[in-house]
Amino acid sequence: MQAPVLLITPPFTQLNTPYPATAYLKGFLNTKGIAAHQCDLGIETTLRMFCRRGLEQLFAEVLRGNEELSENATRIVTLREDYHDTIDDVIAFLQGKRPTLAHRIAGRGFLPEAGRFAQLEDLQWAFGSMGTQDRAKHIATLYLEDLSDLIQETVDPHFGFSRYAERLARSANSFDELHEALLQPLSYVDRILVEILEEKMNAAKPKLVALSVPFPGNLYTSLRCGQWIKQNYPGVPVAMGGGFANTELRSLSDPRVFDYYDYITLDDGEAPMEQLIAHVDGYVGREGLKRTFVREGGAVRYYNNSACTDYRQGQVGTPDYSDFPLDLYISAIEVVNPMHSLWSDGRWNKLTMAHGCYWGKCTFCDISLDYIKNYEPLTAGILVNRMEEMIAQTGQNGFHFVDEAAPPALMRALALEILRRRLVVTWWANVRFEKSFTRDLCLLLKASGCIAVSGGLEVASDRLLELIKKGITVAQVARVCRNLSEAGIMVHAYLMYGFPTQTDQETIDSLELVRQLFESGVLQSAFWHLFTMTAHSPIGLEPARFGVKKVKEAVGMFANNDIEHIDPVGAQHEQYGFGLKKALLNYMHAACFDYPLQKWFDFKVPRTTVAPDTIRRVLSEPEWAKEAPNSKVVYIGKPARSERQIKSKKGAQWEVLALSFALQRSDWTVQVEPDKGAWLLSLLARITVHQPQLWTLQQVRDDYERAGLEDFELFWDNKPVNGLHKAGLLRL
Ligand code: SF4
Repeated sequence: MQAPVLLITPPFTQLNTPYPATAYLKGFLNTKGIAAHQCDLGIETTLRMFCRRGLEQLFAEVLRGNEELSENATRIVTLREDYHDTIDDVIAFLQGKRPTLAHRIAGRGFLPEAGRFAQLEDLQWAFGSMGTQDRAKHIATLYLEDLSDLIQETVDPHFGFSRYAERLARSANSFDELHEALLQPLSYVDRILVEILEEKMNAAKPKLVALSVPFPGNLYTSLRCGQWIKQNYPGVPVAMGGGFANTELRSLSDPRVFDYYDYITLDDGEAPMEQLIAHVDGYVGREGLKRTFVREGGAVRYYNNSACTDYRQGQVGTPDYSDFPLDLYISAIEVVNPMHSLWSDGRWNKLTMAHGCYWGKCTFCDISLDYIKNYEPLTAGILVNRMEEMIAQTGQNGFHFVDEAAPPALMRALALEILRRRLVVTWWANVRFEKSFTRDLCLLLKASGCIAVSGGLEVASDRLLELIKKGITVAQVARVCRNLSEAGIMVHAYLMYGFPTQTDQETIDSLELVRQLFESGVLQSAFWHLFTMTAHSPIGLEPARFGVKKVKEAVGMFANNDIEHIDPVGAQHEQYGFGLKKALLNYMHAACFDYPLQKWFDFKVPRTTVAPDTIRRVLSEPEWAKEAPNSKVVYIGKPARSERQIKSKKGAQWEVLALSFALQRSDWTVQVEPDKGAWLLSLLARITVHQPQLWTLQQVRDDYERAGLEDFELFWDNKPVNGLHKAGLLRL
């Protein structure tokens, strides 16, 4: 058999579901008939560490060490028998295999508890309202985090779930520190990692190993993998690519990096990988390589064969999740919030609706790079085909669309296609809070299985949103979040502080608006990020235009993306981090809305200038937009029943047609004039989602008039027809 390509995701990404990059590449290689095997060393290393044997070895190693232990570590070590006895059951529970164990875990007193449980005491009130399964998952997560703290303190200071040795990789302008760490003997985690790597190499006997490094937290382990392969399999070339290379390594010039990898590719992996395989097989020379760094004569050289073009999105095949141990992934709940936990709880098939971002204007974003700049959407048909294939392969019908910002028009088409095919799926996506997320679009998305969206509100300040070129206002975000929430779609907002020129006042006012959004119930979850200036964003490219200065001009020889900057106008941004995050954690649990904002900070902050009813006022303003004649009308409800009824008032009698709609949880009835009701009934049957073409409002109007009826607007825009969105008559 032809030797395969071994695709590796090095530790650690998320533990609840495979990171999709190698699945995308394997899906592409399938279309070319190239054999590939993939593995997620993150989940495999984790499972080998967190089992009875792994913990016995860990505690033995800790006890062999001579360092004095902290009080927390001492407590964990003292309770080691309890950890040995429970770890296999806890992992099986988090893999969804022992659901009844939830009762013992949630009841407390079964699992040993150390430092991480202090936060649980703080949130006791929120915790009490959780279901038993979630409560048990959260306790089990804290239990694993206690063990993680022990590992970090004693045997491996780099350890952290999903962000291993991240500090070494972050802003590593110079390769020195990483190189130095890699020359040290293998750490505790490294030893487990290479043990598994050795098994993979022996089993796959690959002709090429490709390491996918999406985040800084995977870099160190990928280098360790490369180092070990080069020492033990010197004939097998090692390639590296992925999000970290795409953003950080574009100006790479340090040749020492090639002591660990032979090739580093940039941007989309399909065409570079195909060329690389042809090169390894001896069919093309180095000049045939695409977007690939190599070391040549002791220096770094970049090859980019311009004759070789990239593949279009429709040509790259369906992500292939075979080889992954799909039933062994671990669901965790780190933050007690139903929206927040989507990232770590549950198995999600990952897909994108488009390549790149359809907006592509935000001034803090890497909009000059391929993964944002080159926008190419898929069609809804291809997307749903891929979803069906992935359901068949993985047995899972949950999808996380990981686009930077999914286009609303494609979300609409996707939802319609899902409904047309009567596919039962659950999905969520990243979006921009566009005003096109109307009430009816949100209802359509919900009906198709959309349960949540996340999007960037960034700084809740219209001045700064303008500077960011986000193309949204705070009022618009509030209305969109209301439409989503009322449809039953949870909303998570990415928030930013420290944007260039952002003042103390703007930071506090932004917090106040966020507080009001939570209090109004239109936002369920959020996260604050400190603004980072990146080399490939408009601000990084032209800092003076945004009132900031780079700390130094010179670029390093290794990673170059995050740029240190000075904001001479704005606030001391870093000092706000702790207070903002603490306030948010409470708001996410619907608590402390009445606290004065000053209470979250241990330094003096300005009083907010935002009126306390700002968001409430925005949400109570009537939203009226005239429907365009070419807007679409669709019916996604069940066939209605009709009954002629006689109404009487003050001695007069007249006939009406009562139309009854069976909704999931109740019935909905409207009464209309008989002739118009008969037309409406016939219309609903003709504009269902199963029709090949959606009707426009103009077509509906023409049809109404052809039926000899009058006063279309009066009928269409008034109660009761106007309320039929509840029954599934949607205006899109
Ligand atoms: S921040 Fe998001 S919406 Fe803005 S350009 Fe980047 S990817 Fe697009």
